[in-house]
Order: sequence, then C-alpha cells, then structure tokens
Amino acid sequence: MTNFSNTLKSIIFDLDGTLYVHEGVSDEIEQVACDLVATGRGLTTFQGGRILRSTRQKLKEEAGSEPALSLVCAELGIELAEFHQALQDRVRPECYLNNDTTLQHLLSSLAERYNLFIYSNNNYPLVQKILALLGVEHLFSRLYTIEFCWRPKPDSEALEQVLNDIGGPPESFLFVGDRQHIDLLPPAERGIATVLVRQTDDLLQIHKLLGLLH
Ligand SMILES: [Mg+2]
Repeated sequence: MTNFSNTLKSIIFDLDGTLYVHEGVSDEIEQVACDLVATGRGLTTFQGGRILRSTRQKLKEEAGSEPALSLVCAELGIELAEFHQALQDRVRPECYLNNDTTLQHLLSSLAERYNLFIYSNNNYPLVQKILALLGVEHLFSRLYTIEFCWRPKPDSEALEQVLNDIGGPPESFLFVGDRQHIDLLPPAERGIATVLVRQTDDLLQIHKLLGLLH
C-alpha cells in the first residue's frame, strides 16, 4: 500500500447506503419489490413482503451473506427490467434527499486528484436524480448503472467490463461501498483496494488512506 495515492487513478463508489443513507428511500425501494411480488401472485402487499423476506433469508443462508435485492426479485420470477421500471416510476428520492455540502467537499477534494465513478445496482434515471439531489452529479466521470450490462453486483463479468471500460492495473483502482460481499469482495479478490463505509462520515477513511488529511 506504499505510495498508493500515487498509483491510484480511479475511485469507484457504490451509491445507495454509501454516498447517502436514508430509510425513506430504502423503504420505498423495498416496498416496490413487495408490491411486485404481491401483484404477480394475486396477494396483498403484506403477504408479498413476507415472501420477499423469507426468500431473502433462504438466499442468505445458502450464500452465507445478504443477497442484493435484485437477486431476491430474480429468484421470485421478477424480471430485472420490470423491477427497474417500477423503481423509476415509484421511488421518490426528492421527498427525502437534499444538497449535502459535506459530501460535496469530500468528493470534490478527491475529484481534484482522481477520476470518480459510480458503480450501482440502481438504474440510470434514479442514480442521476439522487446524485443531482445531493449536488454531486458533476463530480463523476461516468455512471455504471444496471443498464451497463444488466448483471447486478456481485458479478465478476460485469466487474470485468467496468474495469476494462475505465482501464488500468489493479493498483490504479479503489472501490468504496457499504456491503462487503456485494461491493467489495469481487474487486478485493483481484487485488484491488477497498474501503467499507457504514455511514457517509466513514468516507473520510479514503482521505486518511490516501494521506490527504493534515
Ligand atoms: Mg449500497
């Protein structure tokens, strides 16, 4: 890790739970999934929610880690495109998220030295909307959303495509996310540096890692 700040060129951020944390948004996303499960089966949303949660639990026990919501939906026969259309239509981040000046300062100081990217299981319209609400959309070179190859994280083929598209050796990347198995394990297996964040204040760890704090 010596001189990592010199070899680093590209920082790849997860979005939801990483650059912002808000129960209102995550609840609405979960609610859309519950509704889709219910509608497809002629059940109430409450019953749909029970099926969603038990399927998530089953997948978690099989894999030993919390599965991405896209994966739970796929297991229940919901097409990824259908799920994302419903999210686009019904999730309203504008009800919950505001300009975040702390985040702006953290990211703009990184953007002076490195190229910043988003790599998210969320869709392009929602990702764009969320970044604009937070006031940080201009700081990213490119947004890798579900539309990039329709393969939700964790997925080694999708990761490969993202890395090839950005370009560079493992030591030129840093991945930042809130879920170890989904965001960070696949890049870590390729020898890429990672930072786990639990709340947006943890983003300061990046500055510490890079020696940008005085
Ligand atoms: Mg996340």
